[in-house]
Amino acid sequence: MAAYVGVKHAIAACNGTAALHLIVRALGLGPGDEILVPSFTFAATINAFLFEGCRPVFVEIDPVTKNLDPRDAERRITPRTKAIMVVDVFGHPADWDAIERIAQKHGLRVIDDCCEALGSEYRGKKIGGFGDAGAFSFYPNKQMTMGEGGVVVTNNDEVARLVRSLRNQGRGEMGIWLEHERLGYNYRLDEMSAALGVTQLQRLESFLAKRTRVAEMYAEHLRRVPEVEAPRVMPEVRMSWCLYVVTLAPHLHRDPVMASMEEQGIPTRGYFEPVHLQVYIRQQFGYKEGDLPVTEDVARRTIALPFFNNLSEEQVRRVIEGLAQAVKQSA
Ligand SMILES: *Cc1c(COP(=O)(O)O)cnc(C)c1O
Repeated sequence: MAAYVGVKHAIAACNGTAALHLIVRALGLGPGDEILVPSFTFAATINAFLFEGCRPVFVEIDPVTKNLDPRDAERRITPRTKAIMVVDVFGHPADWDAIERIAQKHGLRVIDDCCEALGSEYRGKKIGGFGDAGAFSFYPNKQMTMGEGGVVVTNNDEVARLVRSLRNQGRGEMGIWLEHERLGYNYRLDEMSAALGVTQLQRLESFLAKRTRVAEMYAEHLRRVPEVEAPRVMPEVRMSWCLYVVTLAPHLHRDPVMASMEEQGIPTRGYFEPVHLQVYIRQQFGYKEGDLPVTEDVARRTIALPFFNNLSEEQVRRVIEGLAQAVKQSA
């Protein structure tokens, strides 16, 4: 994995959430520290540092790429800001030039939740090699799977040393069974899952090619549905497709469209429900509707369509016909 991503260290973990938590611990982030993070993501992105008592400061997204808006992030920096948690959402790389510039200028740590972006590239460099460390996930909906699994990738020797210890009950580098140097976890990846991962990694590029093909078929068929925008890929990136998420025109809402598709036997998902509006986040941090208008507007209009390696052209055609029908009914 280290060779594939092009980093010094790859340390396996039992899932992507654990991998992110290990990075937060290894970087020494804790109570009172503010972390800039997009709300348009999976809850685990935020949970990974809530476990340590850090405070989320939610940042708006770019409505085109759906990734964290670096200018909005910079506006929200305070003396307590310690880190930026970046997400390469759906597999599209974030705006790394701008993020690195801001992090350097303000002395911030950078964690990459690249759980959805294995194989993606930004200006020719693989995602996972940006920031202080990154985490990938191998849950079944990701580009490759181990059932459950994750990995921390980093070029930082000290982070790697701490992550190895923390995931293994706080044991030292010698791994002496009953010697514990620090409070640690059992976040290890098991051997059976790892064996599956080795073979999946060998096939990864063929999976990515198939997924690109499916994305191209979708884009082609979507041209007939003017109320629905296909995902856009910026010219400076290589997209590794994790999810295929379309955006409805501003006058539409995803709920009736998804309900109509469900009735037609086409399952979809509302990726994402903004994290700042999840009940436990509202309760603890006082966020409410209207706090992140761009994020909330995007989230009202984005739908993940059925997406997997071997989706056929016939199935793609059926999904898009169903979508066109659903849009017509709900307009
Ligand atoms: C999948 C995912 C995770 C969590 O990974 P698990 O392996 O399920 O713990 C975290 N962040 C994002 C953005 C994800 O898509």
